[in-house]
Amino acid sequence: MVDKTSPTAQPALRSLLPEELSSLLVGAGFEAYRGKQVFQWLHAKSVRSIDEMVNVPKKLRDWLSENTRLGGATALLDERRSDDGSSKFLFQFADGRKVESVLMPDPKRAFFTMCVSSQVGCAVDCKFCLTGRNGFFRNMTADEIADQVLWARRILRERDPDAIFRNIVYMGMGEPLLNTAAVVRSIRLLTHSEGADFSPRRITVSTSGILPGLAELAAAETNVGLAISLNAVTQELREQVMPITRKYPLDELLEAAANFPLRPGRRITFEYVLLAGVNDSIEDARIMARILRGIPCKINLIPFNANPLLPYARPEREQVDRFQEVLSAARYTVSTRWSKAQDVSGACGNLATEFRQGGGVRAGAAAPAAVASASEGHDLDFFTAGLADDEED
Ligand code: SAH
Ligand code: SF4
Repeated sequence: MVDKTSPTAQPALRSLLPEELSSLLVGAGFEAYRGKQVFQWLHAKSVRSIDEMVNVPKKLRDWLSENTRLGGATALLDERRSDDGSSKFLFQFADGRKVESVLMPDPKRAFFTMCVSSQVGCAVDCKFCLTGRNGFFRNMTADEIADQVLWARRILRERDPDAIFRNIVYMGMGEPLLNTAAVVRSIRLLTHSEGADFSPRRITVSTSGILPGLAELAAAETNVGLAISLNAVTQELREQVMPITRKYPLDELLEAAANFPLRPGRRITFEYVLLAGVNDSIEDARIMARILRGIPCKINLIPFNANPLLPYARPEREQVDRFQEVLSAARYTVSTRWSKAQDVSGACGNLATEFRQGGGVRAGAAAPAAVASASEGHDLDFFTAGLADDEED
C-alpha cells in the first residue's frame, strides 16, 4: 500500500483526520480505535516524535516509523521574543523551505493569537507587501499549516500553563485562498474535538480577494471568520496597488463579501493598509463608507509598515485619526492596528530567510536579482497584526 521507494510517498500522519488514520491503520492490521489515539497524540499533545506516543504499542509505533512520516514542520529554527510578549517563530519543512509565524498576546496578556502562513511566499504581488515582492515558492500542506499552531501551542503551554491560546489568523505569508484545499483541511484538523479543538469562530482567514477561493471556502462550510484586504476603494487605484484586481474586480469582490455565509452575528473584517498620499485621503474614507454600506462589517486600518524595498510611506498619525474619524462618523466599527513586536522585527516579520532562498515567482514579473541580495539578517518585516482578538462571540 505504501511506496517505500520514496520518502515523500509516505503519508504525513499530521495531515490525516482520525477516521483517515483509522482506515490507514486498519489496512495495516491494527485496531480502528488506534486512529483516534494517534490523532490525539499528534494534535492534542503535539508530539514531536512517534516514540512520545507512550500508550501506543511498540509494534504499531515501529510500523508508523517504517511506513509513515510525521509531517508538519521538521524544525523550529528560531524563536525571537518581543518585550510586548509576542514571539516570532521560524519553522523549517522537510524540503528546507521556511516560513515565519507570530504568536501575539492581547494587551492584557490574557490570551494569545497566532498568525500563520499558508504558502511559502506569495504570487499575488501586492505592491506594498514584502511577501509579495519576494515571490512565490510553493503551497504549504495542511499539516505544515496546522503544525505552526501545534508547535507554538505546545511551547506556550510548557512555558505558561495558564496562558490561553485562543485565536488563529491566516494572515502570515501567502494567500490562503490560492491554497484553499490545504487551508480548509488545516481548519478541519485544528478544530477537531479530539485534537487542538479550536472553535471556528476563533479562526479568521484573510484574503486579497480571490473570488473562486472565496466560493470554495464558503462551500466548505467551515464557519470561520473572513477578512478581506481592501486597501483601495476604486477599481483604478486598487489595480495599481493590488494588480490582482484586474482579474477579480472590486465590485465583484464587494458583492462576494456581501453574500459570504457567516455565522449569525458575525461580520466581515475589511483590512485597509494606509499608504501616505496614495489611499489615505478623506475622500478615500468617504468612498469607503459608501461602498461598504449594507455589508455587515468592521474595518481595521493598518498604517503601512515601511521597508526600504517598498515604495510607500506611513501616513502621519493625524491623518490616520482623520481617516478613522470619517468612518466612525459614518457609524462603522473601526480600529487602527499599530504593529506589535517591533523590537524583534515581528511587527512585520523577518523575511530575510525567504529572501535568501531566492528565485520566487511573481504574477507577471520575475523576482529582481537585487531583492535576493538586498537583505540579510533580521531586518525585514511582514505584517502580523492580530485580528480575532476582538471578535464578538
Ligand atoms: N494574503 C492575505 C493574507 C496575508 S497578508 C491577504 O492579503 O489578506 C495580511 C495583511 O497584511 C493584509 O491585509 C495585507 O494588506 C497586509 N500587509 C501587507 N503588507 C503590509 C505592510 N507593508 N504594512 C502593513 N500591512 C501590510
Ligand atoms: Fe500576498 Fe497578502 Fe502580501 Fe498581497 S498582501 S502579496 S496577497 S501576502
